[in-house]
Amino acid sequence: MSEAVGHVVIVGAGHAGGTAAALLRQYGYPGPITLLGEEPIPPYQRPPLSKAWLKGEANAEDLALKPLEFYADHDIDFRANTTAERLERAAKKVVLSDGSELTYDSLILATGARAIALPIAGADLDGVLFLRTAADAETLKARVGPGKRLAVVGGGYIGLEVAASGRALGAEVVVLEREPRLLARVACEALSDFFKGYHEVKGVAFELGCSVTAFEGEGGKIAGVRLADGRVIPCDAVVVGVGAQPNDEIARDAGLECARGVVVDLEGRTSDPAVFAIGDVAHRPLPLYDRMFRLESVPNALEQAKQAASAIAGRPAPAGEVPWFWSDQYDLKLQIAGLPFDADRILLRGDPASAKFAVFHLKGDQVQAVEAVNAPPEFMMGKQLIGRRQPVNVDKLADPAVSMKEVAA
Ligand code: FAD
Repeated sequence: MSEAVGHVVIVGAGHAGGTAAALLRQYGYPGPITLLGEEPIPPYQRPPLSKAWLKGEANAEDLALKPLEFYADHDIDFRANTTAERLERAAKKVVLSDGSELTYDSLILATGARAIALPIAGADLDGVLFLRTAADAETLKARVGPGKRLAVVGGGYIGLEVAASGRALGAEVVVLEREPRLLARVACEALSDFFKGYHEVKGVAFELGCSVTAFEGEGGKIAGVRLADGRVIPCDAVVVGVGAQPNDEIARDAGLECARGVVVDLEGRTSDPAVFAIGDVAHRPLPLYDRMFRLESVPNALEQAKQAASAIAGRPAPAGEVPWFWSDQYDLKLQIAGLPFDADRILLRGDPASAKFAVFHLKGDQVQAVEAVNAPPEFMMGKQLIGRRQPVNVDKLADPAVSMKEVAA
């Protein structure tokens, strides 16, 4: 059967998988589509889990990508609570957790990533939490409130968003970070300093450069986090936010080429032409930077869903996009475009003290990435400059009195 009418099986009903199913129908794909999801609910957005939803500003319906009826209405066979256990590529077959099998003509792996656990004593205590799924978020929400002591292991985006939401809910929050600065893997030093200062003003405590060696419990419940220097930080709950790893096991077991995730091309196609991989699980080309990378972001999930759905529906490949990401903490909107690969200098535009500024990462006179705090024009125009590979006048860029429109002209 040709790709344009065959059975499409999508493994993983998250942001990427749910979007791919909807796009296939939007593109007029007429063949059968089966969407398999391990979780009990239809595809939903994860970003609010650490932000609006955790603070009680959004409800479960607000999270859903589409209402449940959408799938039946569009002849998409969505199956909740269904895990794909194994892939048999020679027979083009997926074996499910209930022992049944599904044959496919095209398979999309959209299995996402999972939170990394810490292999230390006490990791199984009640109150040692993660934040990846809506169920995780429910558990966390029930533990955070006025007077509760929340420890957050990991000063990355999720850790800091949880810290901000925790404060909004009246909890005492301490963030424990192994590196000497926050956001060390993902942002520049100026941003780390800024976010640390902002959180401190809001009442968050930090332990930087510390190593967590154990979780201490009382009666099976978390009571504190032990650090390498012997101190124990008391807490009622701890959120472990030390990164995510791709759910690429079924691809590896099936012999698909994998690196840090499943290796794909610009159509989202793996080393097997009948199998695609999209979203957090994919190790994808970044033509703008001439390298392969695994991205964990909603815009990436959407872009790759478009790539795979276009290839399967026989449409032209969509135009390449500049990678981007956002994070909301308190009244701060951080927007990041591009990746700072090969940048040889950093340029600050605006004043961090005003909580409205941007950091540009330049390679010569080209913008590689921009990190913008409450600065939408810098983000938007910066993103365009990155996409166009357009040289900039660095003096103008450094001067906030010169509009970004003029900089980009
Ligand atoms: P997921 O959305 O994780 O979906 C994968 C799905 O596949 C899951 O439901 C999983 O259970 C299922 N699955 C896995 N294996 C199987 C199997 N074998 N069989 C069946 N189903 C399976 N990104 C941003 O851009 N901005 C943000 O502000 C932001 N905030 C975030 C906050 C939180 C708390 C989290 C957790 C993530 C955040 N992200 C953010 C990242 C973003 O949500 C992810 O990049 C995005 O969800 C990736 O989509 P995905 O479909 O690849 O993976």
